[in-house]
Amino acid sequence: MDEFELIQTYFVRSDEAPGVTTGIGDDGAVLQPDAGRELIVVIDTLVEGIHFPDGTDPLDIAYRAVAVNLSDIAAMGGRPRWMTLALTLPSAEESWISRFAEGLHAAATEHHVALVGGDTTRGKSLVVSVALTGDVATGGAIKRSGAQVGDHIFVTGTVGDAAAGLELLSAGEPQPYLSSRFFRPTARVGYGQALSGIATAAIDLSDGLFADLSKLLAASGVGGVLQIEKLPLSKELRQLFDPEAQRRFALSGGDDYELCFTAPAGKAPVLSGLPVTRIGSIAEGESLICHLDGQVVPFEDSGYRHFA
Ligand code: ADP
Ligand code: MG
Repeated sequence: MDEFELIQTYFVRSDEAPGVTTGIGDDGAVLQPDAGRELIVVIDTLVEGIHFPDGTDPLDIAYRAVAVNLSDIAAMGGRPRWMTLALTLPSAEESWISRFAEGLHAAATEHHVALVGGDTTRGKSLVVSVALTGDVATGGAIKRSGAQVGDHIFVTGTVGDAAAGLELLSAGEPQPYLSSRFFRPTARVGYGQALSGIATAAIDLSDGLFADLSKLLAASGVGGVLQIEKLPLSKELRQLFDPEAQRRFALSGGDDYELCFTAPAGKAPVLSGLPVTRIGSIAEGESLICHLDGQVVPFEDSGYRHFA
């Protein structure tokens, strides 16, 4: 099967997608933005052995490659719309590509994202790069830089699960729920859109809560207090690790793809099925201080993130 047939068979989907004037098959895709909306463009690259373990199920690789991009769009308050895929493969086994395409389309159709183009090349290692374009009402994008003193700090879902899942996997004792939180992250797309016009700042959690929230604070020129006892932890994490390890995963573990955002008191939107927890407050200053039951606790970010 040559490259053309491969793309036709596995990547082209016949159903016409909104806003796509010309999709896969030409030199470029032609897209029609909606009036009154701005575009948000993101890209993320996953390298085998660096961002996911060798031998990962291709369905999971593809799902995750789309999900991490969806998460960036969500953190901006945007609606995901169109994506392109750059795929570098050491070999082109059809069974692998078929399963990869399945994961790709699964993640994309969940959020009505159309694949509009890409590039397929042979290379020494497996590299998957997805670029995603989303849109948002003009002026509605949420930035990292808007947090105000007095705002509350919130996080969606639970934190620390993906890193804990990876650690258990490397130790040869995988726990299915925690592993799935690494391989199949749930981008908070609906919630991100609900935050537009409400959150003062937002970031998605790829490097770990402490590191990512610190980036938000730096961009906003403010400090913050994080109340450690409030961190939302899954029951799996609590059952399998002692409190110190739980805290280490929750603060330093990456790859959760939850949203961390700031908003005035009482303003966090409520969406059924997704817990949102207040974990602290924005304060004067420029650092992130951890409190445990009202006492300051020193915390050193172990930079415990990403596979390898
Ligand atoms: P060109 O030589 O103009 O770059 P290609 O022959 O590489 O075009 O690709 C042909 C068409 O297939 C293009 O529309 C391109 O966007 C699309 N395409 C190539 N690889 C992929 C892929 N992995 N997924 C989706 N579309 C792809
Ligand atoms: Mg061309």
